[in-house]
Amino acid sequence: MKKNRLGIIGGGQLGMFTCIAAKKKGIKSIILSETEEFSAKNFCDRFFISDFKNFNNIDKFIDSADYFTIETENVPISIIHYIEKKKKVFPCSKVIEIAQNRLKEKKFLNSISGINTTEYLQPKNFEDFKYASKNFNYNCILKSKELGYDGKGQYKISKNNLDIFKEFNFDKFILEKIVDFKKEISIILIKSNANAINYPIVENIHKESILRESFYPAKINKKIKSEAISKSFEIANQISLNGVLAIEMFILKNGQILINELAPRPHNSGHWSMDACNESQYDNLINSIFFNNLTPPKVIAKCRMINLIGNDYKKIESLKKKYRCYDYYKKEIRDSRKMGHYIILDQLNS
Ligand code: AMP
Repeated sequence: MKKNRLGIIGGGQLGMFTCIAAKKKGIKSIILSETEEFSAKNFCDRFFISDFKNFNNIDKFIDSADYFTIETENVPISIIHYIEKKKKVFPCSKVIEIAQNRLKEKKFLNSISGINTTEYLQPKNFEDFKYASKNFNYNCILKSKELGYDGKGQYKISKNNLDIFKEFNFDKFILEKIVDFKKEISIILIKSNANAINYPIVENIHKESILRESFYPAKINKKIKSEAISKSFEIANQISLNGVLAIEMFILKNGQILINELAPRPHNSGHWSMDACNESQYDNLINSIFFNNLTPPKVIAKCRMINLIGNDYKKIESLKKKYRCYDYYKKEIRDSRKMGHYIILDQLNS
């Protein structure tokens, strides 16, 4: 029987865009969502609403699809292992397990020759934490090892706020040195058994730890560009990637590249590929899972992708008159919540 059903864990905007890409290619999408209302609800062919840990429902979800993927790495790894006993998951549990835990991620990355991350320490208790903060000149961030996104679970440390953390459970956190980077960039790799591709590097602007804007082309020189790409492929090889991996990087003032984060799924900084490339990151994710053949991305325009965060969403109707806008159909506006994005295109040779 032809395999044409994709199970997606999570139903946010990344899941929604994956469903749209799947439909274009004749693939049915089935969402597993923990919340009653979710962006992909009107775009998937079927959905299950269930706690990710309810194995009865997971069994039904497993039966409903041929292959599986995630749209968030914040999924209990036990579920991925459980699915993997019966069906294939893209990317596989090894990739997800590393990318969903900052400590495992940093250890893995620093174990690869030529790859470095920011410096970090693992304070065990308050005394340890004070010592570690001093070691970083009080210029550091406590980051949760797991379940953090868009700045959630992160605390900026200063000499004056140390006492707040007296009763803190440090086991779940690492302390990371703040780097004075020149730029942030990201790159998306996709691998199938047949080939591997990368989307061109974009430059990213974050505010308060949330991505505000990505633009192509990134304003970086040839040397940094080729180094960033070769480091990305080295990481993808070492992790035995199948499916999508987004890699966020800091470029320091001296040109050194540090890897900030891995995301084992389509990425916000890759939304632009829907409007400015022949095939998007979502299209190629479907290609990698079902067709084992990727379309090398061809860029057709310069592009700025701007997120609509929280109350920015109120501008969407007026923005629609000028730009291509994407609504994530979130039930309510919340501060720091990604509600949609819009796209500004420009000619390649301008
Ligand atoms: P993260 O969730 O760890 O990717 O952090 C989100 C954003 O916060 C990054 O993209 C940076 O803009 C900023 N940030 C995080 N960690 C650091 C760091 N060690 N040094 C400087 N900026 C950081």
